[in-house]
Amino acid sequence: MKKIAVLTSGGDAPGMNPAIRSVVRTAIYKNLEVVGVRHGYKGLIEKDFFDMERGSVADIVQRGGTILLSARCDEFKTESGRKKAYANMKEEGIDGIVVIGGDGSLRGVQKINEESDIKAVGIPGTIDNDLSCTDYTIGVDTAMNTILDAVNKIRDTATSHERTFVIECMGRESGYLALMTGLAGGAEYILLPEIDFTPQEVCDKITQGFNRGKLHSLIIIAEGVEAPFVDLNEYNGSPGMAMGELIRERTGMETRVTILGHLQRGGSPTATDRIVASRMGAKAVELLLEGKRDKMVNYKDNSIGVCEIKDAVKKNDTINMDIYNLANILSM
Ligand code: ADP
Repeated sequence: MKKIAVLTSGGDAPGMNPAIRSVVRTAIYKNLEVVGVRHGYKGLIEKDFFDMERGSVADIVQRGGTILLSARCDEFKTESGRKKAYANMKEEGIDGIVVIGGDGSLRGVQKINEESDIKAVGIPGTIDNDLSCTDYTIGVDTAMNTILDAVNKIRDTATSHERTFVIECMGRESGYLALMTGLAGGAEYILLPEIDFTPQEVCDKITQGFNRGKLHSLIIIAEGVEAPFVDLNEYNGSPGMAMGELIRERTGMETRVTILGHLQRGGSPTATDRIVASRMGAKAVELLLEGKRDKMVNYKDNSIGVCEIKDAVKKNDTINMDIYNLANILSM
């Protein structure tokens, strides 16, 4: 192994930069050359490569986003697109690659390993924390803290005006962010794609809370909640807007809706995201030096370890019911 590449792909996540920094500096420390690839897999196909030195990753440990830029690239899903990518990497003398991204990006890693002799390993980078085989994906801690900051601020207004607030957070297929921030933010109700509910039970709990003297109600809802009882198209696809309307109609309470949107993806990475990203970056380089391929660096039981990518990309749609039940009890 003489030369490795590094890229970020799919949705950006805070902590990708500390991971890139760690890959680059660990590799240089181990006498490897490093090539940065811009725009994810698109950059492999278009040969958007540049040599990286220690200084290339200076002053990025605290920055959100990714200096390598990220992209979604349909061409990499085609065999002809991937062939171009492999030819470009061969021409550049790249023997191994570290890909930082979510489950889609990791499927790309599987393809590289199946179809070429370039060794590829993955680092889980997504705010959704929806991969199997790892307790943690880079970015989730920062996203949770961003959401909590918003919840705290909304709570001030909710209390002052004795209102109900519905807060819609990210998580198209996974309710992890909603669940954890619901517990930490003291939400009255947490609505997740993984757990069925009826609007009436939500309204009843809100009414009961106000009758017991609660000054406000906060409902956290994941954007991926399907809400089969309404036509979401009438609400711009937003389950939060739909729930806000239903609560207003059925309880007669003033109800406001906040969709947090993309502010959840940005921001300076938290200490935990930086620490995990730094450790994962170094581990990925180590794996390549050991000649490993098709592995993802993971974080389990407070340790950095390794798992098979085929296991990691299986969707993790299990919700921790202990945490869900606890949040319910604590919000009574
Ligand atoms: P994420 O990595 O955040 O889940 P995507 O699912 O959009 O984001 O995947 C990012 C990119 O990874 C895609 O645009 C594509 O270039 C590549 N990719 C996704 N799935 C595959 C696949 N099955 N085979 C090859 N490349 C893939």
